[in-house]
Amino acid sequence: MITEPDFDVAVVGAGPAGLSAARAAAAAGARTVVLERAEHPRYKTCGGGLIGTSLGIAAPLVQVPARDTVSAITFSDDGHRPFTRQAGGKPLLTMVRRDDFDHAWLKAAVSAGADVRQNVQVRALEQDADAVTVTMADGAKLTAGVVIGSDGSAGIMSRYVGVSFDQQDLGLEVELAATPEDRAAWRRRVQLDWGAEPGSYGWVFPKDDELTVGVIMAKGKGAETKDYLTRFLAGLGLSDREVRRDSGHLTRCRTPDAPLMRGRVLVAGDAAGLLEPWTREGISYALRSGTWAGEIAARAARQGVGALDGYPALIRKHLAPEMTAGRRLLNVFSRHRHLMHAAMATPLGWRAFESFCRGEITMAGVLRRPQIRVAVNLLGGEGA
Ligand SMILES: Cc1cc2nc3c(=O)[nH]c(=O)nc-3n(C[C@H](O)[C@H](O)[C@H](O)COP(=O)(O)OP(=O)(O)OC[C@H]3O[C@@H](n4cnc5c(N)ncnc54)[C@H](O)[C@@H]3O)c2cc1C
Repeated sequence: MITEPDFDVAVVGAGPAGLSAARAAAAAGARTVVLERAEHPRYKTCGGGLIGTSLGIAAPLVQVPARDTVSAITFSDDGHRPFTRQAGGKPLLTMVRRDDFDHAWLKAAVSAGADVRQNVQVRALEQDADAVTVTMADGAKLTAGVVIGSDGSAGIMSRYVGVSFDQQDLGLEVELAATPEDRAAWRRRVQLDWGAEPGSYGWVFPKDDELTVGVIMAKGKGAETKDYLTRFLAGLGLSDREVRRDSGHLTRCRTPDAPLMRGRVLVAGDAAGLLEPWTREGISYALRSGTWAGEIAARAARQGVGALDGYPALIRKHLAPEMTAGRRLLNVFSRHRHLMHAAMATPLGWRAFESFCRGEITMAGVLRRPQIRVAVNLLGGEGA
């Protein structure tokens, strides 16, 4: 029988969810270990676009390694009818490379006192009334009072907790070497393209000397997704650029009633299926859920395991309504993409999107705007 676990909190996976969790837990005084399969700085398939919500959490805690800040968005409808909206004031989005961004969070977690162990793959968990035993791929074991599962959308923790998903998408991305002309053309500007396949879209995100070009579409349409990326690149005149990286990754959105914990194990970020269903923006969800999981795990170390119940309550209160709103917008977008495109050209649509990007309003807040609510209801965005 275990009396004193090795750590108060063990975090599995060192992405934004795990590292924000570890930073928060360690800052609150918990003995915290992070177990990461890869070694930072490591690549992660991701647009690296931080909305204002993500920036608002990160900026006070880490040195945000911005590659660009965005003040204009070009919208296109499957490559056609492009138009650009310019924003004044605060940037709409901040562009980071995930290897830099996650490394900055790693440093913050270490500074707060977390023990970060890299090149360590977690293989299995077992728990009893006192602690969780974590087994690594090399057979080594450690024990912790609470485990935070933040191993992303392809990890083992969601299965352990029993998280179910009602939306799965495949994102494909290339990192292109930007020519001097590209750098001038794309500086401070992104492009969002609404794809012909329902619910799909593409993006160009500038990162100084690189352009991240990607597309996302419902899982199970690999050939169509690849074809969309090829056509998108050709339409942008970017087919001949040097491809520095070419990769894909799944995104998954949780079913609304899926569990967020099992005993002493919490899940956060992509492992919990916490993601904005329409834009598939996930960094703000990872940082928010990770921070709450870390704070609550540290509280459980002081007050007992009952404190963990506060975690699902926070997710249900703050993130579930946003995901519901995102599902409704995705429903409308999937059926009426031309109308969504046209809406972005209107002052009402643009202001709502701009405010969402800046983090001034949530998706649920967007849908509470009276004219948008009426339009979404009329267009059948019943959602979940
Ligand atoms: C193509 C694409 C583009 C995207 N663009 C954006 C965007 O522009 N903006 C945005 O906000 N979101 C974007 N997202 C979503 C965003 O990437 C994720 O939501 C975010 O990375 C989730 O962070 P996380 O910490 O939960 O997981 P991850 O970032 O996936 O981190 C999980 C970590 O766990 C580690 N790990 C996995 N298994 C194990 C194991 N068994 N043991 C130990 N470690 C393990 C991995 O190595 C990894 O470091 C995009 C997603 C995709 C697929």
